[in-house]
Amino acid sequence: MVQKNQSILLVEDEIEIADILQLYLQNDGFNCAHATDGRRAMELFRRVKPDLVLLDIRLPGQNGIDILQTLRAESPVPVIMLTALTDDINKLVSLRLGADDYISKPFNPAEVVARVHAVLRRTSGIYQQQTKEASLLKVANLLIDVSRHRVTVEHGDNSSELALTLTEFRLLEFLARQPERCFSRFELIDACLPESDALDRVIDSHLSKLRKKLTEAGCADMIETVRGVGYRLWQGQ
Ligand code: CA
Repeated sequence: MVQKNQSILLVEDEIEIADILQLYLQNDGFNCAHATDGRRAMELFRRVKPDLVLLDIRLPGQNGIDILQTLRAESPVPVIMLTALTDDINKLVSLRLGADDYISKPFNPAEVVARVHAVLRRTSGIYQQQTKEASLLKVANLLIDVSRHRVTVEHGDNSSELALTLTEFRLLEFLARQPERCFSRFELIDACLPESDALDRVIDSHLSKLRKKLTEAGCADMIETVRGVGYRLWQGQ
């Protein structure tokens, strides 16, 4: 049986296949979100936080392998790839990149549901543990509690809380998940302001306010501007 509210993100551009898979998954008690391309898939992934992703390899634009890499940079979520029978190389590549299983087309939808259950059983303990750990991020003397939406600055035995807007919080969390990696403004907008048509200067403005708050709390120079590229979070010596 499906645990309450378990959700699946299905990334599949062939509508007939997507419809029938959604039907089978929903009949089995899963909530199902559906995307037909990579951009929409990542948007839904960040919003829905699914328990498992069913990811087609052959998609228009970004293919499933690229999307898997983007997913893996952010999350250990279980992923099952949907592949064509002749996709042997892609099967190997996706397993190497961290897919948990793959299913060849054409498939029996009931078998897909069975494999979803099997992968969830195999990975759920691990994934939930990692998710719990990932909800507490520490960079230099910043402690970011993602589930409580709190940022604390530690000074020896003292600590003070930062009052951030939702966007400032999202930006700080996103940068802190991969400290010292440089992100372009486009990546930051895509990850932290996906629902808006924000321009580069909007990101600059949010980051400048965030930087000011960090500086006032004693964390100057943490957000570094990389000229011509974007921004990164610097964790110090
Ligand atoms: Ca396809």
